Amino acid sequence: MDGRLIIRNERVETGTKIVSENPATLAPVGEVSVASRELCAEAVRAAKDAFPVWRWLDPREKRAIFKRAENIMARRASEAARLIAMEKGSPYPESLAVEVFGALQSLNYYGQNQGRLLRSGRAGHHAPLFFHKSGAFHFHPLGPTLIISPWNFPFLIPVCDILSALTAGNTVVLRPSTSTPLTALLVGEIFAEAGLPPGVLNVVVCRVPEAEAMIVDRGIQSVMFTGSVGTGRRIARLCSENLTNVTLELGGKDPMIVLEDADLERAARGAVWTAFMNCGQSCGSIERAYVAREVAEPFLARVVELAREVRVGDPLDDGVDMGPMATAGQLKVVEEHIADARAKGAKILVGGGRVDGRPGYFIEPTVLVDVDHGMRCMTEETFGPTLPIMTFDGDEQAVALANDSDYGLTASVWTRDKRRAAWFAERLEAGSVTINDHMYSFVEPRAIWGGIKQTGMGRSHGPFGLHELVNIKYVGMDFLGKKSQTWWFPYDRSLSGIMEKAITLFHGAGRADKLRAAWGLKSEIRRLNDTSPLLNYVLALPRMLKK
Ligand code: NAD
Repeated sequence: MDGRLIIRNERVETGTKIVSENPATLAPVGEVSVASRELCAEAVRAAKDAFPVWRWLDPREKRAIFKRAENIMARRASEAARLIAMEKGSPYPESLAVEVFGALQSLNYYGQNQGRLLRSGRAGHHAPLFFHKSGAFHFHPLGPTLIISPWNFPFLIPVCDILSALTAGNTVVLRPSTSTPLTALLVGEIFAEAGLPPGVLNVVVCRVPEAEAMIVDRGIQSVMFTGSVGTGRRIARLCSENLTNVTLELGGKDPMIVLEDADLERAARGAVWTAFMNCGQSCGSIERAYVAREVAEPFLARVVELAREVRVGDPLDDGVDMGPMATAGQLKVVEEHIADARAKGAKILVGGGRVDGRPGYFIEPTVLVDVDHGMRCMTEETFGPTLPIMTFDGDEQAVALANDSDYGLTASVWTRDKRRAAWFAERLEAGSVTINDHMYSFVEPRAIWGGIKQTGMGRSHGPFGLHELVNIKYVGMDFLGKKSQTWWFPYDRSLSGIMEKAITLFHGAGRADKLRAAWGLKSEIRRLNDTSPLLNYVLALPRMLKK
């Protein structure tokens, strides 16, 4: 990767560079051009110019472009996974399985469904006065979309967001994290090679002030932001300036609840993988586990065994399960959370410190017990390889503990009992609840992603995600040819009489009153007939007669 930006499918080099660093070795991965304010504005202009081209492109051509992108991504899969491993630090097999394979699944789904996911649909009428009209919902793209993405899934998150935006008919400016810019530029290269029309996807690496200038650029119609809560709030405030459409996918503090009837082997393996994969730097990591007191001992014992087996090392080496943290700043947060828990009485069963003899941001997978909600590791997002575990007594207490959080991204329940699973799913405050698994739904393109409370606003992925990125337009039609409508001018005693009787007819309780009202309407038959078809009233008879 040569670190040049992508605007209108052209590779652009600038005089200012940043260095992308390998968090395992602290060696440079490569240099990347940084876009000036003018260049960022040019990227927005490019997306604006390309909008009509992309919006009206035949879905069959879009399908062909997506298919080519899928094939190119598959061909360049190893290159992508190596780059992710080098820039972010996740082991090569994990980068391949989670980021590249996950992205390919989504690319395949959206590719196959170009022109199908946002089909116009008939809207029926409930109000009898409108029975003769037709109504439909249409989905129209909003225009250039600014995607601001984090470093923790530098390939998967931009790809999924790009696919949603493009499928909605929008064009894109991608502004990736400056910690993982090369991976994002590879994404741009793949789409350019697939023949996406120039300007439909532009990738600009820039500093925060320039990113903010793009948010308030009138050319941007929608912002898709993934990142921390603090930045999300700032982005929301900036979007309020032009009332720009915004979706916010922010932090998480996902709970796992292990019931006494759970398959403990599966639950323990699930806990260890989901807490430590990606070095714990997933918004949907298991950040706290609650286990039923009856099975706490065997569950903990197995978790400890498995956590000790997690092999930490260079992400490009064979036989490594966990690489380093991606940034020095994130490593510091994790250390602070462990220190805070220790100081307040938590016991560390596994890990707790840095990995000796390595230059990078390595920290051990860490299991903590004797924790409570007075500790930062149970309430704030740690975003690192820690697994604090608490016991609970009874289902109600498990729900209360899980819901005692500012976040609400996903939650999981581990049980063999479908009925209990449904009970928990109903009560957990989260955007998604999964049973006997955790976090996989991010890479299921037909599911949704997103959360409640401080986790953000809106949903991404799947058909509901697309609804966030379009103008859902109602189109109503009336070709009956009547010269007026019942409720139009003139306002007179006749209209008042009609409305008083109609209110009794449709919404009153007594049958006798309804019959009287219906009989009274006969004097208004002319106005009714002149303004709406009498058939509307006939069709509404069952509703009128209902008490
Ligand atoms: P961050 O908020 O620091 O940065 C996210 C992106 O925003 C980066 O590209 C950053 O450069 C940019 N940015 C920062 N300040 C900005 C500003 N004022 N204007 C415009 N852009 C700005 O987050 P991060 O550390 O990169 O990512 C980790 C966070 O992301 C965690 O909190 C994690 O939970 C969250 N996350 C959430 C999801 C989700 O789907 N809910 C997914 C992945 C990560």
